Amino acid sequence: TSTGVTHRRVMLKISGEALMGDQGYGLHPPTVARIAQEVKSVHDLGVEICMVIGGGNIFRGLQGSAQGMERATADYMGMLATVMNALAMQAALESLNVFTRVISAIPMDQVCEPYIRRRAVRHLEKKRVVVFAAGTGNPYFTTDTAATLRANEMGCEAVFKGTKVDGVYDKDPKKFPDARRYDRVTYDEVLEKNLGVMDATAIALARDNNLPIIVFSLDEPGGFRGILAGKGTYTRVQ
Ligand code: UDP
Repeated sequence: TSTGVTHRRVMLKISGEALMGDQGYGLHPPTVARIAQEVKSVHDLGVEICMVIGGGNIFRGLQGSAQGMERATADYMGMLATVMNALAMQAALESLNVFTRVISAIPMDQVCEPYIRRRAVRHLEKKRVVVFAAGTGNPYFTTDTAATLRANEMGCEAVFKGTKVDGVYDKDPKKFPDARRYDRVTYDEVLEKNLGVMDATAIALARDNNLPIIVFSLDEPGGFRGILAGKGTYTRVQ
């Protein structure tokens, strides 16, 4: 486009753990504020932004089921955790004057809006950041799958997966100094080599709809904006 922005509408997926800073649990307000600032800087470019935030900083279904809880019940607890994270992000964005709507896959009208696809699209057209909470609303899924699903439904051009490293490596770059980053990798390679970008359900859903996944570092200040302006390092899964 004339402004040099590479995408018009994107999905940003971050894990719940991205909001906990150096703590072992929960929300770290300065970290939430920092990520909100990164989102605002992309919003300022005129990009329409959807977000999905995980819940792993509070509760994961697998953790509950390992303790003997029924898996579906534990997963509902995990989904509720994502709602808390979404509300925290909304508060942080709105304190930066970025209008934000939280939309939950599980209706809880006093807290946030229910998911109505056309209404969510309208929010994006009005340049509101839309945070999709409660995952897909179904147990046995992850928020990576929710991000891929909503990205397809909203017509996003890509899913931006913010992580602790600047892309997908052939082995863990924090453990192996000779690890190599892929510039590009196919969905099938990610699945075959188990590269741990997202779970298999999410990768397959992206593949079947040819939705690119951009893996980048959220720890790099200005990194998200940089990629949307055509700079920086990342891995493109497609
Ligand atoms: N979850 C679910 N269905 C979904 C999305 C999430 O049941 O569609 C539950 C699941 O228990 C999961 C938890 O919510 O463990 C938190 O999501 P996730 O593990 O994806 O969070 P992240 O690892 O990204 O922080």
